[in-house]
Amino acid sequence: MAAETSGPWHEVADRVWTAVAQPESVSTAVVAGTRGLLVVDPGSSPEQGRGLRASAERLTGLPVLGAVATHAHHDHLFGLGAFDDLLTWGHEGLADALRSEASVAEAVRLGVDVGTLRPPNRPFALATGVDLGDRWVEMAHLGEGHTSSDVVVVVADADVVFVGDLLESATPPWFGEDSAPDVWPATLDSVIGLMASGRVTAVPGHGSPMGFEDALMQRGQIAAVAAEIERLLVAGVPVAEALEQGGWPFPAEHLAGGVRAGYRRLTERGVRPSRQLPITAVD
Ligand SMILES: [Zn+2]
Repeated sequence: MAAETSGPWHEVADRVWTAVAQPESVSTAVVAGTRGLLVVDPGSSPEQGRGLRASAERLTGLPVLGAVATHAHHDHLFGLGAFDDLLTWGHEGLADALRSEASVAEAVRLGVDVGTLRPPNRPFALATGVDLGDRWVEMAHLGEGHTSSDVVVVVADADVVFVGDLLESATPPWFGEDSAPDVWPATLDSVIGLMASGRVTAVPGHGSPMGFEDALMQRGQIAAVAAEIERLLVAGVPVAEALEQGGWPFPAEHLAGGVRAGYRRLTERGVRPSRQLPITAVD
């Protein structure tokens, strides 16, 4: 049943637990305050979300007050349907994303009834928060990156920030067709700013928690991808050849969609291949 698709809870900070939910090995989390619980990234289906909800309440003896999805991908978003009688949060772009062809195709592939999926009932453009009693949790869209709908969830008193797939530690970051490689590094600068004390742990959407140096290193690699996409475009390399001709810090299968998205976004911004003047020999 659904509850069995997620692993045991691990307390990663004061009253902050994570568990790995299959089939996508997504890090789902519970944050507790004296009034109740917030669930972060409630799994890949409403059924899994229901299992997580029951499991979180068994774990803490407290009621779930609401849930937040860090971005539009199914493994982070589809479980929100199990919390629609409560408060649910996420970026305002999630409603459109849920109706997209890619999202519907993912639901069909997973055997999830599209009619049971729900966007957040408290969507936000920039930032919001929830009072869990003795603990205030903030949620903020710091900019585009992995998707256009990325939000981070900040538990300031526990020195924890949930970053969705803006950072990943289990596998390299995923640059899909819906990614924004050109602005991803700047968004990560804001995340890294939140971590500047050196005490803050980033919990990625997949994999174990990351410290300041790991986050900074991955920000550098993502910036290298962004710079390489722009270099190739300006050099006149066709998008179909860019993966093969570029030098990349991550495997090609994690980059293909993002290279196309990067070319498209830069072209929309007016970036063009530079015209090389013919070089004439001077005697
Ligand atoms: Zn994702």
